Amino acid sequence: MDERVFIKDGIRLDGRRFDELRPIKMEVGVLKRADGSCYMEMGDNKVIAAVYGPREVHPRHLQEVNRAIIRYRYNMASFSVEERRRPGPDRRSYELSKVSREALEPVILTSYFPKSVIDIFVEVLQADAGTRTAGINAASVALADAGIPMRSLVSSCAAGKVDGQIVLDPMKDEDNFGQADMPIAITPTGEITLLQMDGILTRDEFRQAMELAKKGCQEIYKIQRRVLIERYSQFEDLQDEGS
Ligand code: ADP
Repeated sequence: MDERVFIKDGIRLDGRRFDELRPIKMEVGVLKRADGSCYMEMGDNKVIAAVYGPREVHPRHLQEVNRAIIRYRYNMASFSVEERRRPGPDRRSYELSKVSREALEPVILTSYFPKSVIDIFVEVLQADAGTRTAGINAASVALADAGIPMRSLVSSCAAGKVDGQIVLDPMKDEDNFGQADMPIAITPTGEITLLQMDGILTRDEFRQAMELAKKGCQEIYKIQRRVLIERYSQFEDLQDEGS
């Protein structure tokens, strides 16, 4: 057993209470050549999402006649972790690309763009646990920035169990030495599009973790919405339309 104490007098190692997210920073439209893009920091995680499309599918045999296909590539830079990571895809990045695509696909109106593809690239520049959730948040905003029609945004964060306590948004040390980690993604109307779990939780702890993660996602949703409104209220014609 590890003897470390991660929560003392209700305060975590980085000064947060059990129900607090790490500080968040988001910036929309950071890449000139992408149709939509977003840079996001969630604590020490730094990710960038770029969206291209809808555009022609290559190779052609991947085309779907009645909808757009979505491709999502999650990639961790070799310098994003403490010890240099071997570049290129691995099992983990294939898994994270798949679950992240599935987290966003339900909100994208793919039937508007038959025979085309929407490509989403997520590059992790710095990792500190929670990169899949940061990637989904950034990708959701980048899709909106690209003008892709969507039912809603998707917001994502994790809850975990550390020192026997359910906490919001575990950072690296809490994730490494904690007893559970449960990332979720959710729409503002409450549709869960991602639910994963490492470790073990009792039923009650699972309910608590779910409530906490949902609350975290609601906070993130407000930030996503705010940065998009701020970005687009810069353009007079949109401002004139009112809301
Ligand atoms: P997530 O980043 O979504 O929480 P994981 O739970 O798989 O995904 O990873 C937790 C953290 O572990 C990552 O954010 C990163 O800080 C670290 N990590 C993941 N893969 C590697 C790796 N190949 N080398 C070093 N650290 C890694």
